[in-house]
Amino acid sequence: MTDRDLINMAVEASKNAYAPYSRLGMGAALECTDGTVYTGCTVENAALSSSICAERAAVCAAVAAGKHRFRRLAVYAANSMSYCTPCGECRQVLSEFSPEVELLCVRSDGRYVSYKLRALLPNMYSKEHFE
Ligand code: ZN
Repeated sequence: MTDRDLINMAVEASKNAYAPYSRLGMGAALECTDGTVYTGCTVENAALSSSICAERAAVCAAVAAGKHRFRRLAVYAANSMSYCTPCGECRQVLSEFSPEVELLCVRSDGRYVSYKLRALLPNMYSKEHFE
């Protein structure tokens, strides 16, 4: 699967985003190490802290299917010319499973930049802190 294939799945997921407050319309496509892909979209709520990001929605779908190892995550912002990186909470959730996951951050015109999660979340808090 190419980066563009994964991005196209994130774009498709963004079409179901419920984002009346931010209007960002985010979609995410998460590729597991076995090649399967799970998608998610933003689900906002009037009680803003009850909202869930597209990235975490995709992680929850993958975990619900028994997948815990991720290779790449494409995150698409339908209404932004910024390269939207995952928020801090999503970075932390991704780090639980795959600290080395690659992030493809896609803006509305389809251009994207790539980061390693570890670069965006240095010295991450992890399960190793419990050992
Ligand atoms: Zn987030």
